[in-house]
Amino acid sequence: MTRHRVAVIAGDGIGQEVVPAALGCLDLVAARHGVHLDWHHLDWGSDHYREHGRMMPVDGLDILAEHDAIFLGAVGVPDIPDVETLWGLLIPIRRRFEQYVNLRPVRTLPGVRSPLADAGPIDLVVVRENNEGEYSEIGGRMYHGLPEEAAVQEAVFTRRGVTRVARYAAELAAGRSGRLTSATKSNGIVHTMPFWDEVVREVLAEFPDVELRSELIDALAASLVLRPARYDVIVASNLFGDILSDLAGAVTGSIGVAPSANLNPERRHPSMFEPVHGSAPDIAGQGVANPVGQLWSGAMMLDHLGHPKAAAELTAAFEAALASGVRTRDLGGTASTAEFTESVRKNIEEGT
Ligand code: ATP
Ligand code: MG
Repeated sequence: MTRHRVAVIAGDGIGQEVVPAALGCLDLVAARHGVHLDWHHLDWGSDHYREHGRMMPVDGLDILAEHDAIFLGAVGVPDIPDVETLWGLLIPIRRRFEQYVNLRPVRTLPGVRSPLADAGPIDLVVVRENNEGEYSEIGGRMYHGLPEEAAVQEAVFTRRGVTRVARYAAELAAGRSGRLTSATKSNGIVHTMPFWDEVVREVLAEFPDVELRSELIDALAASLVLRPARYDVIVASNLFGDILSDLAGAVTGSIGVAPSANLNPERRHPSMFEPVHGSAPDIAGQGVANPVGQLWSGAMMLDHLGHPKAAAELTAAFEAALASGVRTRDLGGTASTAEFTESVRKNIEEGT
C-alpha cells in the first residue's frame, strides 16, 4: 500500500461542496490501485481571515511543507479583497514550494457545449510560468497627487525561471503532438519579451523533434477563438498565461469543469491542485455546483503522485457520467452535485 499525506483546503463557498465530493471519488479510485490518501483537513480561508486577520496561520507554509500534495477548493468571498487571498495564501504557496508551472489542460468534454459553433475538438494545455514575470512587487507610485503622478511596475524574468518552464513545456510537447507555441510580445515589450524568446529558443534547441512557433499574444488570443483546434501545448509568461488559460477554458464551455495544477516538477516540494473556478457565492450552499473541475484536478494530483492509471480511471469515470447525460445545471442539466458524484462513483466501481 502506497500512502500519501495530502493537505486539504476546501476553503469557501462551493469549495465546501465540491471538495468532499471529489475526496470520496479519489478514495475509491485510489483504493483500487493500492494507494491510500491520508487527508489532512485545514480550515483556512475567509473564516480564518475574519477570526485571525490572516488567510492561514503564521506557520502555514511549514505545515504544508510536511505534505506530499495540496488539494485546494476555492478561497475568497466578495467582502474580502481578492488581493488578501492572492498574496495571503496562493502566491506564498506557489513561491515557497517553487510551483513554477501552472498547468491548465483544456479539452472538449462530452456533453459540454463550446460557445463556438464549429470549433472542432479542442485538446490543448497551457503551461503558465507561475513564479516570476509581470506579477512582481517591484515598483511604486511617484509624485502622489501631482499632475505628473505615475505608477511603475517592473516585470522580472530570470534565465533560470524561463529556462525551467520552457523545458517543462518542451518535454510535455515532445510526449504529445510535438508542437509548442510560445506567447510573446517582443514587438512592443522590448526588454523582457526578446529575452523570453531568446531563452525559449535556446532550450528548444535541445528538442529537435519539437516544432516551436512564437506568436504575438494579441494574434494568439484571436487565433485561439477562431482556430482553437490548431493548438497543442502553449507556453506563456505569468500574465499572458493567466489570460490565455481563462480564454482557452471559456472556448470549451463551462468554467466548472476546468482543472489546474501548480507544479514543482522536480517533486522537491508539494504541488497544489485546484479547479479554475472560484467560490461562486451565487450558487454556494445549494448543492448544485459542478464537481468536474475539482475531480479533474484530483486526477492530475494522482498522476503527479505517480499513479497515472488511477488518474486515467477517474477521468474516464467523470467523462462517462457526462456522456451518459448526467449533468449539473451549469451544463444545462438538472443533476445535483450529489447525483453527479454518485454517477461517477458508480462508474469507478463498475470500472467504466
Ligand atoms: P473568484 O473571485 O473566487 O474567482 P468569481 O466571482 O470570479 O470567484 P467563479 O467562482 O470563478 O467567480 O465563477 C463565476 C461563475 O461561474 C459563478 O458565479 C457561478 O455561477 C459559475 N460557476 C463557477 N464554478 C462553477 C461550478 N463548479 N459549478 C457551477 N457553476 C459554476
Ligand atoms: Mg474569478
